[in-house]
Amino acid sequence: MSNIRFKALEMSMQRSKRQLPVIPSRPSAYFGELTFNKAAMSDFLSREAYKAVQEAVEQGVKIERRNADQIASGMKTWAISKGATHFSHWFHPLTGATAEKHDAFITLLEDGKAIENFTGNELVQQEPDASSFPHGGIRNTFEARGYTAWDPTSPSFILDGTLCIPTIFISYTGESLDYKLPLIKALTVLESEATQICQFFDSSVKRVQATLGWEQEYFIVDSALYSARPDLSLTGRTLFGHASAKDQQLADHYFGAIPERVIDFMREFEYEAIRLGIPVKTRHNEVAPGQFECAPAYEEVNVAIDHNQLLMHLLEKIGKRHGYTVLLHEKPYANINGSGKHNNWSMQTDKGENLLSPGKTPEENLQFLVFLINILKAVEEHADVLRAYIASAGNDLRLGGHEAPPAIISAFIGTRLTEALDQLESITTQAGTKKANKPYNIPKIPEILPDNTDRNRTSPFAFTGNKFEFRAVGSSANCAVPMIALNTIVANQLKLFRIETERLVAQNMKREEAMYLILNRYIKESRKILFEGNSYSQEWVEEAARRGLSNIADTPRALKTLISNDAVSVFEDNDVLTRREIQARYEIQLDNYVRKVQIESRVIGDLAINHIIPIAIRYQNQLIENVIGLKEVLDSKTFQSLSKTQTDTIRDISDHIINIKNMVQKMVETRKVINKYSDLENRALDYRDKVFPYFEQIKYHVDKLELLIDDEMWPLPKYRELLFAR
Ligand code: ADP
Ligand code: MG
Repeated sequence: MSNIRFKALEMSMQRSKRQLPVIPSRPSAYFGELTFNKAAMSDFLSREAYKAVQEAVEQGVKIERRNADQIASGMKTWAISKGATHFSHWFHPLTGATAEKHDAFITLLEDGKAIENFTGNELVQQEPDASSFPHGGIRNTFEARGYTAWDPTSPSFILDGTLCIPTIFISYTGESLDYKLPLIKALTVLESEATQICQFFDSSVKRVQATLGWEQEYFIVDSALYSARPDLSLTGRTLFGHASAKDQQLADHYFGAIPERVIDFMREFEYEAIRLGIPVKTRHNEVAPGQFECAPAYEEVNVAIDHNQLLMHLLEKIGKRHGYTVLLHEKPYANINGSGKHNNWSMQTDKGENLLSPGKTPEENLQFLVFLINILKAVEEHADVLRAYIASAGNDLRLGGHEAPPAIISAFIGTRLTEALDQLESITTQAGTKKANKPYNIPKIPEILPDNTDRNRTSPFAFTGNKFEFRAVGSSANCAVPMIALNTIVANQLKLFRIETERLVAQNMKREEAMYLILNRYIKESRKILFEGNSYSQEWVEEAARRGLSNIADTPRALKTLISNDAVSVFEDNDVLTRREIQARYEIQLDNYVRKVQIESRVIGDLAINHIIPIAIRYQNQLIENVIGLKEVLDSKTFQSLSKTQTDTIRDISDHIINIKNMVQKMVETRKVINKYSDLENRALDYRDKVFPYFEQIKYHVDKLELLIDDEMWPLPKYRELLFAR
C-alpha cells in the first residue's frame, strides 16, 4: 500500500544535493554589499545629503525634504547598480510579520519615453492600501488610510531585486499601527534617561544606545514530510504524534556535528544574511534533534530587530532551496524542547563603554550598580508587563515546559553580584543614621569580576557577565514587542531614580550618598524577584507563590496586564504608546489568540475524523477478517486462545475511535457556543479554558492508535521521521 507518508519519505530520501552558489572565502569582502550603508552613501550621495543622513542616524536630526530628493536619487542609482528594479516600504504591521508593497522605478514621460525615477516623497512617505492590516478599531473603514514613513536609522537593503526601505506605519490620525514606532519611542526615552544618569559620573558622555543580540532557535524538517502533515503546514506545529523511541534523551544532538545538507543550508543563508549586513556569527545544533540556533554580533536595538525579522525571512526562503521547511514555532513537537529567542540586552555609551560591564574600579562599580539595580527594580515593579509582552499561543506551550523558563518572571544575577548587593545593603543600613562619611566606604565592595562565570540557563531574565539575557521570548516573536516593554520600564525607572536623587541633592545631600541611599531601598524592594536556583523546578513554583510572584500560565490572562492602569501609565507617561493604541493591541492579540486556537481545533477535528479514524477502521477490518478466518480454520478452543490479541486490539481501537468522535463532537459544539460571544475577552478565555483542553485528550487517543495500527497504513509522518530525516 502506498500512502502520502511513504511518498513523502521517498521524496525526502531521494532529494539531491543543491549546488551552492560560489561564496567568496572572506565574508568581509561581501558584508553589507546589499545595504545602503555608509560606504554606499559616501559613493552615491552628495556631501550635504550624506551629512543629513548621518545626523539623522547619530543625533536624530530630521531630514529636510530638500535633502530627501537628493538621497532618493542617490539611493536609486545605487539600487539599480545592484540590479534592483523596484522599491518598497518595508514595515512591521501588527500581524507580527513584515509587509512590503513593491513599486517599479520605471516611470513614463509625456513623450512616451521611460525612465527610472524615485523621488524624495516616495522615499519619505507612502500610503499603502492597508485597510486589511489589523488595527484593533483604530481605523474605521472611512478613515482607512495608513501611512508608512522612512526610518533612516535602519539601513535600506535589496531583497529579491527590490530596494526595501524600513518604515514606521501609522494611521491617518497619527496612531501607531506597527511595532517600530513605539520601539523607536521607547529607545529614545531610554537613551535620554540613561545618558542623564551617565552624566552623573562622566559629563562628557553625550549619548547612550541600547544594544540587542538575539539568539534565534528553529527547527528544520524536510519539506516533503512537512507537506504530508496538514497540522504542521496549517498551524506550524504537530497536533498529534507519539514520541519517537529516541529523541533527545541522550543529548547527543546538542553542539553535535552538523549534518552536511544542513551545513549547506546554513552556509547559504549566512552568505545571504552577511550580504544584507546581518553580522551572523554563531551557529550550532540545539538540544532537540532537528533543532538549530543562529546568533549574530549585537547591534543597536532597532537595527538588530530589523535584522532578526529579515533573518527569519531568509531562513524560510533559503531553507526551501535546500528542501527544508524552517519551523519558527515555539513548540513544533510535544515532549521535546521548544524554541526561544533569547534577547541579550545592554546599553552602551558613545565612548563604547558597556554600562552593564562591572568594571574594575569603585567609581565604575557605582555607575554599574546604579544601572543593575534600577533594571532589577524595573523588572520587579513591572514583571507582569514583561510577561504580557512575551505572551502568545505558541509561547504558552513552551513556558513552563521543562526546557524553558517558566511564566514566573524572576531575575538571576550570580553569586558575586548577590554578595555585592548584600554588602551594599548592609553598609548603607548603618548609614541610615546619616553618618556622612559612611557611604564612601562602599566603593570598597569587592571588585566585581567582569568574567563572572556564573551561569543560570533556567532563569527568564539572567545577568550573563555584561548584559541581561531575556530568555522567555518566543522564537517566532518580533523582538520589538519585548524590547518595547523592557526599554520603557527601565527608562521609567531610571527617571524615577534620577528625580529622587536630584531631590535629595537639592536638600544638600551628597549625590553619591543619595544614590546609595536610594539603591539600598531598591535592593530590599527587588529581593523578591531575585532567584538563583533552578527555575524549572516545582520548588520554585511553590517558593514564587509564597513570595507573591505571578505565574500567569496563559495568553488571555497574561494580556490582561496590557490594559491595567499601572501598565498603561508607564507607556503613556513615557510617550511610547497611548491608551487607545494599547487597547487596540490588546484586542488584536486576543483576537489572534482566538483565531490560532480555533484553527488548531479545526485541524484536530479534520485530521482525527477524516484521516485517522478511517485508517483505524480499515486496520480494524483487517483484524476482523483475520479473526473470522481463524474461526473458520480452528476448533473453538484453539480459536479462543489464539484470537485473543486480535479481538483485544479490535476492542481497543473501537474504544479510541469512540472517545475521539465524542470529544471532537463536544469540542465543535463548545466552539459554536463560544463563537457567538460578543465579548472578545470572554471568547479568548473560554477558548483557553474550554476548547484547548480537548487537544491533549484527543491527542492521547490518536497517539494510542498510532501505536496500535500497522505502520504501513499510518498516514502522517511520525516523529522519528520528522525529527531524524535529513
Ligand atoms: P552565550 O554564552 O549566551 O551564547 P555570547 O557571549 O555568545 O553568550 O553572546 C550571546 C549573544 O549575546 C550574542 O548574540 C551576542 O552578540 C550578545 N551580546 C554580547 N554582548 C552584548 C551586549 N553588550 N549587548 C547586547 N548583546 C550582547
Ligand atoms: Mg545565550
